[in-house]
Amino acid sequence: MIFKMLKKLIPSYYLADIYALTIKDLKALEVDILFFDLDNTLDPFYNKVPSLETTTFIQNFLANDIKVFVLSNNHQKRIKTYCESLHIPYLFHCYKPFKHKINKFIIHNGFSRANILLVGDQILTDIICANSLKIKSLLVEPYVKTDLKKTMINRFIDKKIRKKMKEKGLLKSINEN
Ligand SMILES: [Mg+2]
Repeated sequence: MIFKMLKKLIPSYYLADIYALTIKDLKALEVDILFFDLDNTLDPFYNKVPSLETTTFIQNFLANDIKVFVLSNNHQKRIKTYCESLHIPYLFHCYKPFKHKINKFIIHNGFSRANILLVGDQILTDIICANSLKIKSLLVEPYVKTDLKKTMINRFIDKKIRKKMKEKGLLKSINEN
């Protein structure tokens, strides 16, 4: 039981720097659908619009026929403003780690789970959610050290789990495939 719970915390892959994710990595894993968390994954939570670096990063995927979505727990206004400047579809109030809303989204769009990679900065929301959905996940380091108030407790726990996983060699780089 506890082992099963712990397994839900382990990401499929890890990268310290999100920008190190390449088309080659995705091709090797047969991934053509990316689900990105927004806050502290693609940009700091206080960036209302995407940085130039993130815009270029996303455009490269789109140019290579990778479907890109932002799936966030944050509210509509925040996600809408950000994603409209990237011209990518989004889902807000996702309630990660709960899988219900994203699961419906996957089924509604007829996506094959084997082709999806969820990218996020938090074990307790993004990674647990991906594992519950039975899709691949990529854990990255948070964009900045500061967080929204509601994220602070999760981040404290996340840091401890992440440290243990690193010590035990449980974090596998996506670039090694
Ligand atoms: Mg986040």
